[in-house]
Amino acid sequence: MEIKAIRGFNDILPDEIGKWQFVEETAREVFEGFGFSEIRIPIIERTELFSRGIGEATDIVEKEMYTFIDRSGNSLTLRPEATASMARAYLEHQIYSFDPVAKLYCIGPMFRYERPQKGRYRQFYQIDAEVFGVENPMVDAEVILMLIQFLKKVGLENLELQINSLGCRACRPRYREELKNFLMSKSFQLCEDCQRRLHTNPLRIFDCKVETCQEATANAPQVINFLCAECQGHFDKVKEYLEMAGLEYILNPRMVRGLDYYTRTAFEVVSYSLGSQNAVTGGGRYDNLFQEIGGLDVPGIGFAIGMERLISLLPKDKEFIQHPHLFVAALGEESYKEAYQLINQLHLEGVRAELDYEGKSLKSQMRKADKLKARFVLILGEEELKRGRVVLRNMETKSQEEIPIDNLLKSIKEKIF
Ligand code: ATP
Ligand code: MG
Repeated sequence: MEIKAIRGFNDILPDEIGKWQFVEETAREVFEGFGFSEIRIPIIERTELFSRGIGEATDIVEKEMYTFIDRSGNSLTLRPEATASMARAYLEHQIYSFDPVAKLYCIGPMFRYERPQKGRYRQFYQIDAEVFGVENPMVDAEVILMLIQFLKKVGLENLELQINSLGCRACRPRYREELKNFLMSKSFQLCEDCQRRLHTNPLRIFDCKVETCQEATANAPQVINFLCAECQGHFDKVKEYLEMAGLEYILNPRMVRGLDYYTRTAFEVVSYSLGSQNAVTGGGRYDNLFQEIGGLDVPGIGFAIGMERLISLLPKDKEFIQHPHLFVAALGEESYKEAYQLINQLHLEGVRAELDYEGKSLKSQMRKADKLKARFVLILGEEELKRGRVVLRNMETKSQEEIPIDNLLKSIKEKIF
C-alpha cells in the first residue's frame, strides 16, 4: 500500500521553500526592527487553554480543534492559534516582572479541522506578532504599521486595510442584545450554524460565508454606534495615529473577529487578488484574554498572518530559488579526486558548488549544470590538469577561459562574489 499524506496536510517542497524562507526572514527583519523578540511555544497544549481563552462558542472550539486524550487521560489539543499560548507563556514565566510590556512574535504551524480547499488547510502556518501590557492606542497603530510594512516589503500589492472597533465588556453586551433582537426577526434566513450562533455568539453571523446569512445582516445595527465613551475615545486615537503614520484605512463596521477574546480595535488586511478566501491576516486588541486564562489583567494586541495565503500572493516574477554558483565537471578518477577536494573547500567558503556523483560524460554533466542553472562550470579535464590548468565556463555569456590550478580557490571566489 502506498502511504500518502493526510488530507489538508501539505508538504512544502524544495522548489517552493525559497518563498517560505524569504517571507520568514523578512518577518524577522521587520519585526525585530520594531523591537519584537521571537518566542517558540509548544504545538500541543492543555485543551482548557484554548476552550477558555478562545471562547467555548467560537467555531474553532466548537468544531475545528484537533483534541485527543493522551495515555494519562489528559485532554490535549494541537494549537489552533498562537496567541493563547503566548499569553500563557508570558504569565507562566512572569515575563511581566522584568517589564510589563512584551513584544513577541512566533512563526509555525497551526491545526484546525476545517474542510480542506484552496487556501484552507488542516495544518497551516501563521506568523503571529503580539504586544502584551499596553493599552495606549498608539501601540494599535504601531502594530498595524508594522504589519503593512512587512506585507509591502514581501512585495504584496492591492492591499486594503480595514478597521473596526468591537467595544468592550461595558458596551458590547448592549450591542449584542440589539443585534440578537434584530436577527431574531430574520432567523428563518439564517443557516443552521447561525441559528445556533444567534444565541451563543451573534456577532459571528457577520462572518458567515452563506449568502442568505450575509443578506440577513445587511441592515443590522453596527457595533460602532454602540461604543462607550472610553472605547470611542480609544478608537478615535487609533485612527489619528494611523493617519499620522500615513496609513490609509477603510472603516468596515461589519468586521468581527472569530474569537471571543477580542475587544476594541479589530483590523484585517484583504487582498483583491485572493478571491473568496481573501483574508491574508487578521488581528486586534484583546483585553480580556489574560483574565480568562490566568487571572491577571493584561491588555494585548496582535495579528496573525496566514503563510499559505500570503505566499500565493507573492509577485510571480520574483526568483526565490538559490541556484548553484558553480558546477564542477570532472572526468576520470584523478580529476574526481581533485573535484572532491575543491568542492569541500568551496562549501566551507560559502560557494554553492555541485558535482555529478555518477561519473557521466562531459556532455551529460554540462546538461545537468544547465538544468541546475549554475552560473559557472569548472571543467577539470585530465589533459588540462596535467598542464596545471582548468577551464572555467561562464554559462550566461558562454565564454570560457583557462585558469591555473594554483590559487584556484581565490580565482573562483573573485569571479563569483
Ligand atoms: P477565515 O475567516 O478565513 O476562516 P479566520 O478568521 O478563521 O479566517 P484567523 O483565526 O484570524 O482566521 O487566522 C488568521 C489568518 O490565518 C487568516 O487570515 C488566514 O490567512 C489564515 N488561516 C486561518 N485558517 C486557515 C486555514 N484553515 N488554512 C490556511 N490559512 C488559514
Ligand atoms: Mg476560520
